[in-house]
Amino acid sequence: MTIGAIAIVINVIPLYQFARNTSRTCPCCKYITKENRLTQAKFECVLCGYSDNVDLVDAINILAAGHAVLACGESVQLGRSVRQEPAEETTHEYA
Ligand SMILES: [Zn+2]
Repeated sequence: MTIGAIAIVINVIPLYQFARNTSRTCPCCKYITKENRLTQAKFECVLCGYSDNVDLVDAINILAAGHAVLACGESVQLGRSVRQEPAEETTHEYA
């Protein structure tokens, strides 16, 4: 069981929907493929060559996913929050 899976099981990080492919994603270039994971313990990115322990890579990616989640629980990848009202339009008048 990886660190990411343990964190999800004990509900330390309720980010399961935001933290997918954490052991297959390169924390350096973000390339995702199962080939990045050479063995159960060794990660090596086939694109940029970054290599490290899979558990460390998993933890780095989960931390990054946690930082990407807004306070209202949405992913930053959505662009802007759909739960927030749009900002008032402002007009600029130049004298
Ligand atoms: Zn990479």
